[in-house]
Amino acid sequence: FSSATTIRATLFPGDGIGPEIAESVKQVFREADVPIEWEEHYVGDQIDPRTQSFLTWESLESVRRNGVGLKGPMATPIGKGHRSLNLTLRKELNLYANVRPCYSLPGYKTRYDDVNLITIRENTEGEYSGLEHQVVRGVVESLKIITRQASLRVAEYAFHYAKTHGRERVSAIHKANIMQKTDGLFLKCCREVAEKYPEIKYEEVVIDNCCMMLVKNPALFDVLVMPNLYGDIISDLCAGLIGGLGLTPSCNIGEGGIALAEAVHGSAPDIAGKNLANPTALLLSSVTMLRHLELHDKATCIQDAILNTIAEGKYRTADLGGSSSTSDFTRAICDHL
Ligand code: NAD
Repeated sequence: FSSATTIRATLFPGDGIGPEIAESVKQVFREADVPIEWEEHYVGDQIDPRTQSFLTWESLESVRRNGVGLKGPMATPIGKGHRSLNLTLRKELNLYANVRPCYSLPGYKTRYDDVNLITIRENTEGEYSGLEHQVVRGVVESLKIITRQASLRVAEYAFHYAKTHGRERVSAIHKANIMQKTDGLFLKCCREVAEKYPEIKYEEVVIDNCCMMLVKNPALFDVLVMPNLYGDIISDLCAGLIGGLGLTPSCNIGEGGIALAEAVHGSAPDIAGKNLANPTALLLSSVTMLRHLELHDKATCIQDAILNTIAEGKYRTADLGGSSSTSDFTRAICDHL
């Protein structure tokens, strides 16, 4: 599906600020001459019975076919009769690991200068299995599912990631003292995998203590692996350590080598359509996509242009204390390329 010179990738611009920040990515890629041809898919306004969600079957097929894609934020439609968009993507494409790098940006001062950690979140089960029901009126139940298969798979990914990225330590984050069966099984799987990687230090940290340690001294951590809900919360906490949700990228890894990069943040309805959003998180996500495709020169070139623009400080969006619009900031990045 790709010619010798062009690679096809799926693009979901998404909702809210999604189309504005996706436009930034398209502009920067054009300027940097990245050999990517986008196959764009929007969230539909009707439920597709084949996916039971507003995502069309064709859009999922596009990711399966291309094996690689970039996703803007998707607002979660409230109501019955359909599956959450993000949940549909994760389940249908078996996106089992969500990798969220978080590092201090040079030149952008926050409380810490030395944050450099990776959170790896199990993405398919836990409290986010989508299994909730009412037992009797006034009593509801939500099932937290932890399986050996999914836990081993994400632990294996985390240790492999650590080994191949020159990282020294993997911390498994849990609450097994209370959730003895579920988090207990997750830890057991992490321990099993840790034995196969004697060169990587392994430790276990209780989630509440982990939060305290992260805000006191984030340099204590290297690679963190954890079940779904903890990963959701901890990665936002980590984003806060380096300047906020506008900055942190992520990449979803699926079975069969699928990589679907996305920003950590949501659709930011409060600033949507105002040309105010910070496109950095989606741009850095697109950089992880380029690295996955082994287009390292392009990735480095774009990453440097983003970081230099922020460090220079002349053009920054409002979330970073500046007054630039999304389009002015994007233009400045293009000028740095
Ligand atoms: P949010 O991340 O959209 O916004 C939280 C705050 O951060 C807001 O004040 C917003 O303005 C700000 N913010 C977020 N991204 C920004 C950016 N790029 N630049 C500048 N400021 C930014 O979280 P929310 O308001 O809780 O969620 C809104 C919608 O997004 C909901 O429907 C939620 O379900 C959905 N959501 C989707 C994803 C996803 O698609 N992966 C992730 C989280 C939330």
